[in-house]
Parts: sequence; C-alpha cells; structure tokens
Amino acid sequence: MANWLRLVWCLLLWSTSLLSHADSNTLQPQPILVDALESNYSLSLEQAMFMPANEWLPVNPCCINLGFYNGEYWFRVNLEHIVLQQNSTSWMLEIDSPLLDYVQVFHLRERQVIFEANIGNALPFHDRLVDVPNLVVPLNDLRTSDQIYIRVSSASAIEVPLHLFHTDKFWQARADRVGIASAFYAIMLAMIIYNALIFLLTRDALFLFYSSSLLSFSFLIATIYGWTYKILWPNYPIFNDHFLMISIVATCITSTTFSIRFLRLKEEAPSINNLIVLLNWVALFSGIASIFAPYEIMIRFLTGLGVVMCSLGIGSGIFLTIQRRSKDYLLYLLSIFLLLNGFIVFALQKFAVLDINKYTVHSVEFGVIFQVLVLAISLAERHNRERIARIQAQEKIISLQQEANDALDKKVKERTEDLEQLNSKLQEETITDALTRVRNRRYFDQRFFSLYQDAFRQHTSLALLLMDIDHFKKFNDVHGHHVGDLVLQQVAQTMQDALKRPSDTVYRSGGEEFAILLPNTDISGALQVAETVRNAIANLSLRHQNEELSVTISIGVCAGIPHIRNYQEFMYQRADKALYAAKAAGRNCVRSMTLLGHHDEIS
Ligand code: GH3
Ligand code: MG
Ligand code: MG
Repeated sequence: MANWLRLVWCLLLWSTSLLSHADSNTLQPQPILVDALESNYSLSLEQAMFMPANEWLPVNPCCINLGFYNGEYWFRVNLEHIVLQQNSTSWMLEIDSPLLDYVQVFHLRERQVIFEANIGNALPFHDRLVDVPNLVVPLNDLRTSDQIYIRVSSASAIEVPLHLFHTDKFWQARADRVGIASAFYAIMLAMIIYNALIFLLTRDALFLFYSSSLLSFSFLIATIYGWTYKILWPNYPIFNDHFLMISIVATCITSTTFSIRFLRLKEEAPSINNLIVLLNWVALFSGIASIFAPYEIMIRFLTGLGVVMCSLGIGSGIFLTIQRRSKDYLLYLLSIFLLLNGFIVFALQKFAVLDINKYTVHSVEFGVIFQVLVLAISLAERHNRERIARIQAQEKIISLQQEANDALDKKVKERTEDLEQLNSKLQEETITDALTRVRNRRYFDQRFFSLYQDAFRQHTSLALLLMDIDHFKKFNDVHGHHVGDLVLQQVAQTMQDALKRPSDTVYRSGGEEFAILLPNTDISGALQVAETVRNAIANLSLRHQNEELSVTISIGVCAGIPHIRNYQEFMYQRADKALYAAKAAGRNCVRSMTLLGHHDEIS
C-alpha cells in the first residue's frame, strides 16, 4: 500500500513542479476588455451597437461561461490596452470553444465593418479561416481604437474563452498544444490497445470494459476539443452534434460498467449497482433518441445524466473506501482524485488563480493520464492477486481431491480385503460340515476324484477309509439326539487328531459315517492308520451328566494304485464292502480290500 501512496505522491509533486516552473510569459494573450450583451431575439450588428450602455456588462475574456441559452450573445472587444508590434500587424482571435454552433466576428473601424467572418460547429469545416480544431479568426492591421463585435448562438453551452494573440505567438502556443495533445492521444491509444490485448490474453472482462471506457472517453475529449470534426468529417457538421451525444452516452455506459465491476458494486452495494444499471439503460435509450430528438433538449439532458452518473461513480467509490478500507477502492478513489485534480487546476487557470502555461492549459489531459496510469497499474496488480488466489484455490482443490482419492482407495482396499475374507470364509463354509467342522461330503467327492486322478497318473497308492459308528441309533435312543451330536463332534475331532500327515484328511460322508483319504499310502500304511483311529475312538471317554460314555467304530479300508481312469466309485464300493465285513465281524474292528485283488478278498 505504501508503494502506491508513494507513486501517487510523486505524480502530484511532479505535476506541481511543472506548474511552478512553466514559462508562462510566451503564452499570455493580449490584454483585452470584453463586454457582453444577452438578447433573446436576433439582433443586427447596428442594433447591437446602439444598445443602451447599461445592457452591456463587462466579463472576464478568458473564462466567459454563460451556460445554455436559446437566444444570442454579443461580445464587444475593446483593444485599447493591446501591445502593438512594429514588425507584425497580423493577429489571431481565438475562441477556445470548438462546439459553438454559430460565431460571427466583425472588425470595426470608426463604426464601419472592415472585416467579417462566419465560423462555427454548425458550418462546414472548410469555411474556417484557420485550419485548427477550435474557432480562430485572423485579423490584420489592428489599431487600439478598433472594435470587434462577436455574435454567438449555440445549442450547446455558451462558453466563449476569448484570446487575442500576435500570429507568431499564436502558432507558438498552438505547437505546444498540438504536441501535448498528440502525446495525450498516443498514450490513450497505447492504453486502449494494451488493455484490449490484456483482455485477449486473460479473458478478464474488466480489461475490456477499461479499454472501451478509455476509447469512448478519448473520443469524447477529441470531440469536445474539435479534433473529430477536423479530422474525421470536416464536410458534415451534422455529425458533430450526434457524435458528441453518442460519445457522452458511450463514456457514461462504459466507464460506469467498468466502475461497477472494479468496485464489485453488485456484491458490495447492490442498490447503487441497480441504480447505475438503470441509468445506463436510460443513457442507452436517450442515446438512440438523440438521433431523432431536438439537439437542444437532448444535449442538456445527456449532460445532466453524465453529471449524475459521474457523481454516482465517485460517490460509491468514496462510500466503499470509507466502509471497506480496501486497497482497490482507495486506488480507484485516488485515480478519480487525480482526474479531478486536473479539472480543478484547469478551472483555477480559467479563473486566473493559476497562471496560463502549457501545463495548466492541459491539466485535464495530465489528470486523465495520471488517472489512467494509476488505474492500469492497480488493474494489473489486482489481476495478478486474483490469479494467485485462483492458483492457490486450484491447488487446494487438487490436494483435497487427492486426499479424497486416497481415502477412497483405502476404503476400497479395506472393503476388498473384507470381501475376500468373507469370500474365503464362505468357500470354507461350503466345504465344511456345520456340526463337526471337518470337511463335508461335497468336498470329499471333489478330493476323492482329484486324488484318484493324481494316483492314477503318478502310479502311486491311494487309501480310502470308511468309518461308521457302531449302534449309534441305539446310542441316540438312550442318550438323546443332542448327546449324539456332541459325540459326533468329538469323534470327528479325535479322528483328525489321530492323523499325522497334513495331506491326510477326515470327511463326514453321511450321518454318523466318516471317510479318510490318505494319498501315497498303501494298504499296510492304511491299515496302520485305521487301527490308530479305531483305537483312538475306542479309548475316547465322553462324559455326560456324570456318566462315562463311549462309542466304537467299524472301519472298511481300500488301498492300491488305480489302474482304471475315473473309476473311484469302484474303490469306494470296495471300502464299503470292507466296512460291511467289519460290521459283520462284530464291529469295533478294521477290514480291508486291495484295489486290485479279487473282490471277495477281505482281510
Ligand atoms: P450299526 O451302524 O452298528 O449297524 O448300527 P446303527 O444304529 O449305527 O445303524 P445305522 O448306521 O443304520 O444308524 C444310523 C443312526 O445314526 C441313525 C441316526 O439315529 C444316527 N444319526 C445319523 N446322523 C445323525 C446325526 O447327525 N446326529 C445324531 N445324533 N444321530 C445321527
Ligand atoms: Mg450308518
Ligand atoms: Mg452305525
């Protein structure tokens, strides 16, 4: 913030030093005395000349400003104090107000007209006697006793600053003015193009509004100073009035739209925003109406509207600066202050408080340039600030998104693990017997098939043990089905515990029937295992309600190397046959059959 203040302070100091050091003498016009006469009807020169003395009122020639008037004004210039030059008799009378419609200048000597000129904004430019944007009449051979009468009528405000120069001084002053004006329009053009380019690069509409407000403001100033008429349509004075009004409307609309955006009035002060938007519409419609409606009415209305809208822009700037104390608002206000400073210096020069020099004469242009620079710098700074904020916000969003993604990944992983666990649990369940927790019949069928295939392929021996609890029906009947279930659980567990190899597995093949598959095991090994299992069950003591219970099992064994593919049923039948034999042999014993031997060979 301090940097901004320093910059503005330097600009002010610089402008003040220019004001104080400027060489003012060369540009001072000749001392003339002017009286003014107001008439609401048209007078002839003779009528004006013979008007009673009290109708003529003295006015300050440098700053005659009489406002809007439908009648006509007459000015009488007294030359008795002018300084005559030996070597030059040629003079220029400058009416520094390019918008006056009709200006008639009479040069009188001893009450006789010796020269007459008709110029004005409503007359073609080529009628002008001097090719400059403001109204200038060349006068030759002036004498201090001569008199000049000027008749002015105009639909625009009657502002008639009168300056009389020796011709060489006039052109000297003119060169200064053209130089400064060229610099001014060059800077404005550069800023217009620069901001338009920035808009194209950044797509930030604020730069477009700024560029277009500078463009319309430049046209307005160029029109007020008579440049557009001189350069663009010198033969069509009819355009002058319309273009002036259109550039007022365009300036109002573009600069207030820029202000609305710059001050964020929509969010910060919605009621002022709405009022300005409404006035913009009014300006737009009156701009269109100005093409058809009478100029005298429209120019007054539009000038008033312009003043109201400017005041609103300045007022909301002051209001928001006081309220919010933000840097943007303060800079906006400073830029307006610089512009106003230009107008104030100009006015002070007009009212002879400040000397006339090229800086006071062009203080409006200087004010505009200062304003434009401060606003442009503040715009660029603000855009940069917003860009950084945007990047930070984007980074924040990206990091939040990353966090969300990580959390989601973690959740998905956890959920997948859960599902996998559940799935393997489910798979485990589908192959496990619910009561005894050993493998079930379904799994037995699968394993028996694949182990049989393996043994067939690898020519290894496979053993199958089929076990059935003896007299279990009776056991159930005596002790109850529930106790039977508990016994089934213990029997299954005991069988599994009796097995040593990890590949040896117990299956519950039916109600109280179990099976054991022993890969790579021949009949003798199988018989050993069978005997171990039978013994383990026989020695199993089951306590229930202080009662010692016991069960026995009968086992049928079949073992051997499979020689027929997919014929595991045969092996099963042989084991079953052996089991049957064990039952028949009195139970609690093992009987076996080899896979190859004769089917009656039970041992
Ligand atoms: P044996 O085998 O010695 O010839 O006589 P058994 O009484 O065991 O005869 P069988 O094998 O025909 O009877 C099977 C009995 O097993 C029938 C039923 O009461 C009992 N049983 C079968 N499944 C279950 C079970 O899941 N729980 C209980 N508690 N008992 C069962
Ligand atoms: Mg049975
Ligand atoms: Mg049984």
